[in-house]
Amino acid sequence: MSSLLHTADSVHPRCNTIASTCFNADAVDNREQLCNTGETGPIERVSRAEAEITQLNAMLIDIDLCLLRPAIVDEHLQLGGPEAVYQNVISPWLERSPILRQAEVRFSGGGYHIIVWLSPTVQFHGEYERDRWSRYVRVVQCLLPSDPDCPGITALTRPIGSINSKNGVEVRQLKAGKPVSPEEIVEHIEVVRNAPFGVIAEQLLGSRRINPCPKCKAPNSRLDVLDRIGKCYGGCGRIKLEDLFDLYLSPREGARKEGV
Ligand SMILES: [Zn+2]
Repeated sequence: MSSLLHTADSVHPRCNTIASTCFNADAVDNREQLCNTGETGPIERVSRAEAEITQLNAMLIDIDLCLLRPAIVDEHLQLGGPEAVYQNVISPWLERSPILRQAEVRFSGGGYHIIVWLSPTVQFHGEYERDRWSRYVRVVQCLLPSDPDCPGITALTRPIGSINSKNGVEVRQLKAGKPVSPEEIVEHIEVVRNAPFGVIAEQLLGSRRINPCPKCKAPNSRLDVLDRIGKCYGGCGRIKLEDLFDLYLSPREGARKEGV
């Protein structure tokens, strides 16, 4: 049986860009497992504790529109909605990464679900393997300015066509993905471990030398991207990974938590 609901009440204006007026209650707030059998349904039915996960099918990176700095997203949002933010901000980050460029992307209503599908899927025969992949998921999530509160290996996505009741938006696919092998993930994590700042800065900024420095923006400054830090000449000096993410993420105390 289906019934019609009317739009959710007040939500953050930046998250409420395309609110539907009516939607089918059957699909409201369903979730999709990225583990085990990939079941879809109400969150209380499909969510699994870490200890219950025996197979990993995909990794989720959650980029919440409300957590990104207005200076990064607002102009695109006003001109072309969430698709424009995806095309102009998110997609260039993904395209620079050998792993992330293969990911599926869904607009979840409040932000973007970047889903890195695995083929073959990873089977866990014990706690040791599950813990190892749990750490790998965390490393992959740290490649982007994503929601730091997003669950790791237990994360759920929202199925395409379902409704996010926080904003009345239908979840839609922005890009179809293709799977990567577990070996590709492990190899890339090794590259990131050896040069965390270098890999992430190049992926976000698109270059290893930026004029002026994106942090201090001092005239005639220059940021050189090294493997573990950045060096700003003629400006703010040493730049760490957290400084890099601060360029994109709003300060925590000012951000409204919308979740996935
Ligand atoms: Zn600087």
